[in-house]
Amino acid sequence: MSIQVEGLSKTYGRQKAVDNISFQAVPGKILGFLGPNGAGKSTTMRMLTGYLLPTSGKSSLGGYDTSSQSLEMRRIMGYLPENTPLYTDMYVREFLTFVADTYQLSQPGIKVKDVIARVGLGDEQHKKIAMLSKGYKQRVGLAQAIIHDPEVLIMDEPTTGLDPNQLSDIRELIKTLGKNKTVVLSTHIMQEVEALCEQVVIINKGKIVADSSLIELKKIHKTDSLEDMFRMLTG
Ligand code: ADP
Repeated sequence: MSIQVEGLSKTYGRQKAVDNISFQAVPGKILGFLGPNGAGKSTTMRMLTGYLLPTSGKSSLGGYDTSSQSLEMRRIMGYLPENTPLYTDMYVREFLTFVADTYQLSQPGIKVKDVIARVGLGDEQHKKIAMLSKGYKQRVGLAQAIIHDPEVLIMDEPTTGLDPNQLSDIRELIKTLGKNKTVVLSTHIMQEVEALCEQVVIINKGKIVADSSLIELKKIHKTDSLEDMFRMLTG
């Protein structure tokens, strides 16, 4: 179950937000999708998850075309958007039960209980989402993204707003998920890339400026510092 992106572009008015990009992601190798603010990361992720139609080009997830087969594709895909839209008037457990029902999961009670444990929401499960701290809201977002055990997982800045303890828990979870799923995540935290990602794609002004394994990338640019490399390629 892999991700294939071929010549994908998105134009807003006269601006090319994403400009003819191609890359692929495979299971077991977490792909870090990096780039400065405004580079086109979220736009790309929205196209990959079927929330935005490309101006040209195509992409597929697990063999499903993200434009024409988006319903089928969504069954095998989990998405954590940048600002997770959560029903903040709902209670954590109630919301996740609603998500499980939407996916028509068998044994929804067990799935909800299991995902609450996996993302570490046990102590907060009876609270209203609106009452949760940013870090815990993020965990609810992650829970809704993985509750149906998707084969492909796309996460837009999954660790934003987490404190150092939460950060380490969530990274551990992402690492575990990435062992057999196809995972693409965007982040501005270079240590996160070092800790999690085997593959790196860097986008700048809508175009891809690097696409290789982290090890290769360091070899090519003769530096161990991902930050230096990032500045060089996007500055
Ligand atoms: P990133 O996620 O890398 O910060 P985005 O994909 O959000 O970048 O944005 C890429 C470019 O497209 C930016 O210049 C942004 O201002 C522009 N953009 C994003 N969404 C829209 C929109 N709905 N309408 C017009 N321009 C947009």
